[in-house]
Amino acid sequence: MISVVEPATEEVMAQVPRGGVEEVDAAVGAAKRALSSWRPLPPRERSTLLQRLAGELLRSVSELAQLEARNAGKPIRDARGEIEMVVDVFSYYAAAPQRLFGQTIPVEGGVDMTFREPLGVVGVIVPWNFPLLIASWKVAPALAAGNTVVLKPAELTPLTALRLEQIGLEAGLPEGVLNVVAGPGSVCGKRLVEHPDVAKVAFTGSTEVGRQIAQGAAATIKRLTLELGGKSANVVFADADLERSAAAAPAAVFGNAGQDCCARSRILVERSALEPFLERLEAAVSSLRVGDPLDEASEMGPLISAGQREAVASFVPDGAPVAIRGTAPSGPGYWYPPTVLAPVSNSDRAAREEIFGPVACVIPFADESEAVSLANDTIYGLSGSIWTSDGAKALRVARALETGVLSINSNTSVRVGTPFGGFKQSGYGRELGPDAAEQYTETKNVFYATQAA
Ligand code: NAP
Ligand code: MG
Repeated sequence: MISVVEPATEEVMAQVPRGGVEEVDAAVGAAKRALSSWRPLPPRERSTLLQRLAGELLRSVSELAQLEARNAGKPIRDARGEIEMVVDVFSYYAAAPQRLFGQTIPVEGGVDMTFREPLGVVGVIVPWNFPLLIASWKVAPALAAGNTVVLKPAELTPLTALRLEQIGLEAGLPEGVLNVVAGPGSVCGKRLVEHPDVAKVAFTGSTEVGRQIAQGAAATIKRLTLELGGKSANVVFADADLERSAAAAPAAVFGNAGQDCCARSRILVERSALEPFLERLEAAVSSLRVGDPLDEASEMGPLISAGQREAVASFVPDGAPVAIRGTAPSGPGYWYPPTVLAPVSNSDRAAREEIFGPVACVIPFADESEAVSLANDTIYGLSGSIWTSDGAKALRVARALETGVLSINSNTSVRVGTPFGGFKQSGYGRELGPDAAEQYTETKNVFYATQAA
C-alpha cells in the first residue's frame, strides 16, 4: 500500500494500493481492448461522453479541491481554481472529436486526403505539484482523439487521479478507456515507457526524468511529449509600473510554494529601479499569508515533503544574500518561508538550477540587451514575464526570449485555449490550445485513383 501523507500535518490521510509492473500491464491490456469500442465511436458520441465527464467533475469540484488541497498542501482557493480548470479542459476538448479535420490535397490522377488517426494506448505520467490539472491536459485531448489512456500519478499525490477514474466510469466512459495505476515512477512509469503496446507517453516532470524517458522510449520509437523543468525570468524594466510588477512578482514565484514549473524564479530588474522595486517587493512578500491549506485566507502552503524542503534549503546556505524573508508556521508540516535572494549573479547555483520552492533570485541588469542575454542564459525555456510601459520594447524582448510561454505586464501564462510548452531543455510538444488533440494523432495520407494509371 501507499501511505499518502498530508504535507501540512505530516499525517497519513489515506492508504491506496501500490501498483507494480503487473498492474501496469493489466491496465495497458484493458486500454488496448477498450480501443475496439472507443476508437470507432462516432465523434459526436465521444464528445457527449467527455462533456458528461466534465459535468460530473463540475459536481465534484469541492470534493476534489479538498482532496488536492490536503494531499498536495496547496491553498484551498488555488485547489478550487485548478479543479475548475480541469472541468474547463474536459469541456474544451469535448468539442475536439468533431474538429479533427484532415485535408484534401491537389494531386494528379485522383483524390488525396488525410485523416487524423488515434495513436492507440497513451501512457500519461504526471508530477505531484498540480496533480489532477496536469493529468487533465493530457487525458482530455488523448481521449478526444480516440485513444485510450493509462494514467500514472505521482506516488505522493495519487488521490484525485484515482477519483477521476471512478468519475469517468460514473460518467459512462466504457470500462478500460481510462485506467489509473498509482505506484513508483521507477517501476510503473518505467514500465509504461517500455511497454510495446503503449504508443505514446505524455510526461510532465523533471528534466532529469524526462531525459531517462526519452532514452527508454527510443527502443520502441514511442511518441513523446515532454513538459519539463524551468528557470524562468521575470524581466522588470525601469519604465514599468513598479507597483504592479512588484505586487505580481510573489504570486509568480511563490504560487504553489514555488513548486511550479512556470515559476518566474529569476527576477531580472533594471539596475536603476532596483531599490524602489525591492522596497515594494518586500511589502508584497511580507503580506503573503502562509498557512493551513484549508484556510480560505491562505496564499501559500507547505512544501510537498521533508526531502523537498531539504533540497530547497540547500539553496540558502549560511551567508546567502537573503534580502527578504516572509513568515511560515513552525510545524508540524513541511513549511519554508518565502525568501528573496538579492543581488544574485546569474552564474550562482541558485540562479541556474530549478529550486522548486519559494526562493527567488533578484538579478540586476544594465540595459535591454543585457536583460535578454541574462534571461536566455539558462538550459531551460518554459515561461517568463516582461514588465515595461514601452510596447515596442516589450515586443522586441518577447521575440528575443527563448521561451515557450510569455506574458507582458502580467504574471500568468496558462489558459485552456492557448498553447503551453517549452523551448530547450524545458521539453517538446505543446499542450492546451486548439491543436493539442492533434498531438495524440498520427496523420494518414490516402490516395484514391480516379483515372486509370
Ligand atoms: P519527477 O521526479 O520527474 O516525476 C514526475 C513523474 O515521473 C512522477 O509521476 C514520477 O513518479 C515519475 N517518474 C519518476 N521516475 C521515472 C522513471 N524513471 N520513468 C518514468 N516515470 C518516472 O518530477 P516531480 O519531482 O514529480 O516534479 C517536479 C518536476 O516537474 C520539476 O522539475 C518541475 O519543473 C517539473 N514540472 C514541469 C511542468 C511542465 O509543464 N513543464 C509542470 C509541473 C512540473 P513518482 O514520483 O511516483 O516516483
Ligand atoms: Mg521526483
